Amino acid sequence: GKPGCECNTCFSGPDCSVRTPNCTADADSGNPLFLEPYWRRHAAASAVVFSGWHRLSYTTTDLFQSVELVRHIRQLHRAVGNAVVDDKHVVLATGSMQLINALVYALSPEGNAASPPASVVATVPYYPAYKSQTVMFDGREYRWDGTTAAWANNGSRNPTRDFIEFVTSPNNPDTSLCKPVLAGSSAIVDHAYYWPHLTHIPAPADEDVMLFTTSKLSGHAGSRFGWALVRHENVAKRANDYMQQSTMGASRDTQLRILKILKVILANLRSKEDIFAFGYAVMRSRWRRLNAVVSRSTRISLQKMRPQYCTYFKRTKEPSPAYAWVKCEWEEDVDCSQTLLAAGIISRSGISNEAGGRYTRVSLLKTDDDFDVLLERITEFVDAEKRSR
Ligand code: PMP
Repeated sequence: GKPGCECNTCFSGPDCSVRTPNCTADADSGNPLFLEPYWRRHAAASAVVFSGWHRLSYTTTDLFQSVELVRHIRQLHRAVGNAVVDDKHVVLATGSMQLINALVYALSPEGNAASPPASVVATVPYYPAYKSQTVMFDGREYRWDGTTAAWANNGSRNPTRDFIEFVTSPNNPDTSLCKPVLAGSSAIVDHAYYWPHLTHIPAPADEDVMLFTTSKLSGHAGSRFGWALVRHENVAKRANDYMQQSTMGASRDTQLRILKILKVILANLRSKEDIFAFGYAVMRSRWRRLNAVVSRSTRISLQKMRPQYCTYFKRTKEPSPAYAWVKCEWEEDVDCSQTLLAAGIISRSGISNEAGGRYTRVSLLKTDDDFDVLLERITEFVDAEKRSR
């Protein structure tokens, strides 16, 4: 049973074990609840309690950032081998969401009315918040300038403008590893999913500006915590100025909680309670089961992924992506998310990534129950296909 919890909408009864028939599978959000069972297993060790008198102050010893927390972030990257941290500054924030605009600001031309605005771009299919934030905050120093396809310069620098290029690796929504497209751009490389439960790690990332978040690392999306690794001191300083103006730094309560979470993760690395081994086993099994069903379909297909060597696990691993990037293959299915919705599956249309309606994103990150319902709906959809043709 699940005392104190509401049942998932697809379940009812005193212990949430009764399946609601024909319930719609909600695979829209990237809510990382697949890690909840891990933290239930480590409930006592990961708990934080602090008294009313604690952490009243605006300041910590290092402006707004816990020195201990920053030290543990560095330690985790070194232990996992997913980023080079020794020559980087660490900027903490309220989710990596807050860093999207902070880094656009930090990389834009500095307070010089004569210089043209920087062009903020991304490659299709891209994470929609890069555009929506850039358009909403609308600074004089930068503007959203569309997708890289319009500016592709075959490796030679575009002399007329400065580009700030968002790169997501692994990409949200299609989960492939990506590199900047425009030569000479300032890249903001979003590594939200660059952890060994959600991708293989070919080498430590070493870009000038990188984003990370606990949301997909440990599943603590609700704590709202992310960080940037930044090579150049002036860019880090401007990003920190932004944090000061915006929220005066990430919540000290959150920093304390995340410190505890990172300590538990570090203490269990490479043991049988390794969080990445746990998360990888869950996500690999989901991808396998989904592929087994979709491989029988001519109507929908998934992104192609192959086993790859992972430097963290020191072996070749099967894919374990966060999302399925579904393509509708039949001519009549011009709006793939509508096609899936008619089959009782809520997904996120590729229109929001400028990839077009043929594509839609299905989240694999939610609870086991969510995934079971999703797989049930997809199985029915694929079985029905044989009858409808
Ligand atoms: N970047 C990417 C690529 C994401 O997928 C997400 C969350 N879905 C975020 C940033 C924002 O994450 P958060 O603010 O929770 O750290």
